[in-house]
Amino acid sequence: MGEYQHILVGVDLTVESRDVAQKALSLRNSFDCRLSCVHVIEPLSLAYGGDIPMDLSTIQEQIQDTAKSHLAEFAEALSIEETDRHLIFGRPETEIHTLANEINADLIVVGSHGRHGLALLLGSTANGVLHGAPCDVLAVLVGD
Ligand code: AMP
Repeated sequence: MGEYQHILVGVDLTVESRDVAQKALSLRNSFDCRLSCVHVIEPLSLAYGGDIPMDLSTIQEQIQDTAKSHLAEFAEALSIEETDRHLIFGRPETEIHTLANEINADLIVVGSHGRHGLALLLGSTANGVLHGAPCDVLAVLVGD
């Protein structure tokens, strides 16, 4: 057993997630450790509040179904067991921290666009995950 024992990789299910996942996979192999993955679905109501005067639940269900099957494809490619796949509703940063605590992850792996200045201030999940993380965080540079 190597330095890390349980790695948690955050996937946004974009094409770039593959690079992040590949890095997580090679770390898993190097440390011969457990690998879990998480995708967080941001609830539409949280993103848009009461701005859209319609029932969003059907759209939300479709988003959830799509995310579920994409996450499953992803996890299978990485040979991640079903119990180690997590689909959660909420804010990515917060949920990733909470989950890392719950499963005793000792390394969180996320992608980063290497943005700087204003673009960084305007929002980067990697940045949010780093702040207040309960364990080490690896930001894998992905293409811009
Ligand atoms: P971003 O700052 O949104 O470009 O995201 C950077 C990285 O944060 C992604 O490569 C993922 O590792 C992670 N991430 C972003 N959004 C999510 C999400 N909804 N669920 C899980 N991880 C995410």
